[in-house]
Amino acid sequence: MSNVIIVGGGPAGISAALYTVRAGLDTTIIYNGVGALAKAHAIENYYGFALPVSGEALAMSGLEQARRLGARIIQDEITGIGFDEQLTLTGAAGQYAADFVILATGSPRTAPRIPGLSEHEGKGVSYCAVCDAFFHRGKPVAVLGEGEYALHEVNTLLPVVRSVTLVTDGKTPSIQVPESVRLDTREIAAIESDDSGLRIRFTSGGILSVSGIFVAYGVAGSAELARKVGALTEGNRILVDPTMATNIPGLYAAGDCTGGMLQVAKAVYEGALAGTAVVKAARGK
Ligand SMILES: Cc1cc2nc3c(=O)[nH]c(=O)nc-3n(C[C@H](O)[C@H](O)[C@H](O)COP(=O)(O)OP(=O)(O)OC[C@H]3O[C@@H](n4cnc5c(N)ncnc54)[C@H](O)[C@@H]3O)c2cc1C
Repeated sequence: MSNVIIVGGGPAGISAALYTVRAGLDTTIIYNGVGALAKAHAIENYYGFALPVSGEALAMSGLEQARRLGARIIQDEITGIGFDEQLTLTGAAGQYAADFVILATGSPRTAPRIPGLSEHEGKGVSYCAVCDAFFHRGKPVAVLGEGEYALHEVNTLLPVVRSVTLVTDGKTPSIQVPESVRLDTREIAAIESDDSGLRIRFTSGGILSVSGIFVAYGVAGSAELARKVGALTEGNRILVDPTMATNIPGLYAAGDCTGGMLQVAKAVYEGALAGTAVVKAARGK
């Protein structure tokens, strides 16, 4: 039997799971907490609730609904995705293989506000180590972040580059930093460049010169995960066809991560589309 892994336990992921699990597919939802709904205190524009419902209550009820119908639910943070004979997901707690993957990890609503960061995107600043490590082989790079996702990017870079500095921008790392990695906890003032290359300027006045800067704050978003496996994106939006399929065989996306209207109704609709498309593809296998 084909298996499907849905990354994300919000409206899009749960909606997709309802269709795949009820069609008999082996369905696993991997999520690492309540997504955008955690901040939605009262929702009153979604069908079926006479009184406003809190986002948290809606999210919990959705997870319970999928669990009752037979979906396996795992709490883990996915940091990487690859394609071998099957799609493979790397999580902080384990590795997962799937015939089909639906990315439903929502949309980042806050970008790091570091002066100079966006101006250097594509000019040394990257959001994908597996995509861009090669450009910095044998050179020093920095990874901006402090959690599991940053560690994943560090480990991708280490075999390729000369050195990696993990720059936490004033935060204490929540991970065990590998011995071969330099740790720099200074607060960042700006990203700058001149003819000699790229540098991070710290509020304390110091400077770190690097060939590349890899941004890996917080949790890997859908677009970051999608790019790792070569799926087409536009900014933070994953590009999909009308069935929610990406350009990578077996990889689908739904919800806020495909852009457009950032609303529960649209996430549920797209989850249903992705779920039914996966069922159809699995039956054709
Ligand atoms: C303050 C606020 C108020 C809102 N009010 C309304 C409203 O009134 N009405 C309305 O319709 N919409 C509202 N929304 C929007 C609504 O919450 C979103 O459109 C909807 O939740 C999107 O669903 P989603 O499933 O695409 O993503 P999300 O609900 O964001 O779910 C994403 C899921 O992915 C998981 N995830 C993310 N990254 C990873 C990873 N690397 N590994 C594992 N799991 C991961 C998260 O843990 C989460 O389970 C509001 C949003 C906000 C922020």
